[in-house]
Amino acid sequence: MAPWKSKLPDVGTTIFTEMSALAQQHGALNMSQGFPDFNPPAVLQELVHQSMRDGHHQYAPMAGNLKLREWIAADTEQRTGHTCSPDSEITVGAGASSLIFAAIQAIVHPGDEVVVLAPCYDLYQPAVQLAGGKLRIVPLKSGNFHFDFDALADAITTETRLVITNIPNNPTGATWTLEELDQLADLIRETDALILSDEVYGPMVYDGQSALSILHSPALRERSLVAASFGKILHATGWKIGYIIAPKNWTDEIRKVHQYDVFSTGAPFQEGIARFLSSASGQAHLSELAPFYQEKRDRLLKGLAGSQWRFEPAEAGYFQVLDYSPFDERDDRAVTQSWCKQPKGLGIALIPLSPFYPAQDSSLKPPQKVRVCFAKNTATLDEGIQRLLHLPSLQKK
Ligand code: PMP
Ligand code: GLN
Repeated sequence: MAPWKSKLPDVGTTIFTEMSALAQQHGALNMSQGFPDFNPPAVLQELVHQSMRDGHHQYAPMAGNLKLREWIAADTEQRTGHTCSPDSEITVGAGASSLIFAAIQAIVHPGDEVVVLAPCYDLYQPAVQLAGGKLRIVPLKSGNFHFDFDALADAITTETRLVITNIPNNPTGATWTLEELDQLADLIRETDALILSDEVYGPMVYDGQSALSILHSPALRERSLVAASFGKILHATGWKIGYIIAPKNWTDEIRKVHQYDVFSTGAPFQEGIARFLSSASGQAHLSELAPFYQEKRDRLLKGLAGSQWRFEPAEAGYFQVLDYSPFDERDDRAVTQSWCKQPKGLGIALIPLSPFYPAQDSSLKPPQKVRVCFAKNTATLDEGIQRLLHLPSLQKK
């Protein structure tokens, strides 16, 4: 038999799975993988139970529960001014991941160039690789992690098929401005490039900034695909319900993949979510989301203020990047491993930043930074602060 060759030779277990498993093994406080340690709203849980009692147990439609798609269309129009059809431009799938993956498989042909801004979520690179695409990695600015216009201008050419953006960004928490959307529109005007915008942390934006979607730009709408996740905005990452909005011709293509890799998902969850979001409780939940998470970010940062940790407050999302270079010289993987493996009661699991830098470009040296998830209840945040302040390397300095 001919030697067997992996299609993803450089891919191992994701850092999120690795760090959560290490946290469990060593009894460390887990502030690594991005999930809340509190429950979805009680009304939402009840509506999902009710949907089960009402018999929503069989396949949901391939495109998704119609009531849910109608809510998504109304919400999108209200937030961004973009009108999209629930029938032909919205598809619900197994989390945003499944639809980002399906979109990349549907769009990218072997040899197509795909521009990705780094640091970025770890899903994009293997998905592009499986489709046979060529990655062009563009580093975000090192200070505020916003995009570097000149670097992006160099990378986007007539060969570019797809530009993948993530607003707000995981891991950095950076969001975009309307001016930056206009700049992107200018950069791709003369090309055939599409934009795939991952907006799973969409409404969680702080300090009075507006929650921005790529769909706010009329110039970008006709060539943009936007992925979102109910897991994030409803504190229910394990339910794995997400959606993608795309122009009809691209929705047709995405559904050709989606109907064979996922087809249909979580019927009672979709129905319960649709009922919840159409209710006053659902609307109240969404309008409180940004202040709710901002309070958590502020609590974490206040706890670390005056210490040797350095940080720029996350503008959005539920992660905070922390710079440990003032007190530890080791690389980010080494520090996160050793801080997680401390004796019981002291260990803390964080995420190193290097896995967010696609492997292909070795010139991008990841900074000495780690990511903390602050989607945690007050007791966990306070315990996390104590553990971050009492790390052995910090004590020595
Ligand atoms: N994109 C980003 C930037 C993420 O952080 C995540 C993490 N969950 C996802 C996509 C996947 O979302 P979902 O859980 O809905 O698949
Ligand atoms: N998106 C989550 C994070 O960034 C992890 C999801 C996963 O484990 N794949 O932490």
